[in-house]
Amino acid sequence: MKRRGFLAVLVALGFLFVTIFVPHQAQSKTIFVTIGTGGITGVYYPTGGAIAKIVNKKRDVYGIRCTVESTGGSVFNINAVIAGDLDFGICQSDRQYQAWNGLAEWKDKGPQKDLRSVFSIHPESVTLVAADDAGIKTIQDLRGKRVNIGNPGSGQRQNAIDALENAGIDWKKDIKAESAKAAEAPGLLQDGRIDAFFYTVGHPSGAIKEATAGKRKVHFVPITGLDKLLKKYPYYAKAVIPIKFYPNATNKEDVPTFGVKATFVTSAKVPDNVVYAITKEVFENFDYFKTLHPAYSILTKQSMLEGLTAPFHPGALKYYKESGLIKYIKKQ
Ligand code: GLU
Repeated sequence: MKRRGFLAVLVALGFLFVTIFVPHQAQSKTIFVTIGTGGITGVYYPTGGAIAKIVNKKRDVYGIRCTVESTGGSVFNINAVIAGDLDFGICQSDRQYQAWNGLAEWKDKGPQKDLRSVFSIHPESVTLVAADDAGIKTIQDLRGKRVNIGNPGSGQRQNAIDALENAGIDWKKDIKAESAKAAEAPGLLQDGRIDAFFYTVGHPSGAIKEATAGKRKVHFVPITGLDKLLKKYPYYAKAVIPIKFYPNATNKEDVPTFGVKATFVTSAKVPDNVVYAITKEVFENFDYFKTLHPAYSILTKQSMLEGLTAPFHPGALKYYKESGLIKYIKKQ
């Protein structure tokens, strides 16, 4: 009798376990989402972190667990998003334009029709950092010097090539071009292994702080004479490097250059509910988001819907419609 009672209790418990826990577990299956960023001393990496932080706070609502990956940058991120290796990526607005239209690195592959916009983020400027002792006052002085133009997966590589070409400099012949990642460039400069480097990045960035804070004194080189370049490439605009962020650089004033915008992209294959959740959480927590990095201080909700080439993902559009932000979106 005792034994039967015990068995009955066991069966009842087993039943309870199955009815309560098994369906519950199925419902709350976690959706893992990865964001591709850049070098850890850039601004993409903390940006991915800021987005993930906001989204992960609502894990019980959406079941989304967002993680961030350090990568080679814009070009790598776009390709990984299209291949389905990453769900989201941060990339420069010029690279988004080129991928969508099948230009630059995508010339042979053709237009990347699965690329989708979510929103844009901070401005990035093409930043040319040179050692004071290398005698580089203008971009013309780069001739014959060792210059890091960036790794092939990065956004800055093409910007450096465009800036050099605009100045009549052939990067293959007239300079000693290096292809190191941006995170390595400050160390190479400080060690005397390069004379200068290009980095297209938001300000302030850890890499530029590191480059300006060493023993070897460094400065930003202005990039001017941009009329031809701005006419030729619709995605470039004039920009400045705010010197207040880098008190150890030897410049005294803000430095003129050109720039682009960081943008947040995904693939048409990523489900609407995931893109909707991320878009909604970033915009609904906009004031908090802006506190997460000084490069966001000038952001407005409207500015975050500008500078995008690929069509908006339907999940993002759903939020822009329901929040009324759709009014800021130009007809695509
Ligand atoms: N703009 C750089 C790139 O596309 C990355 C900058 C950053 O990581 O903040 O590769």
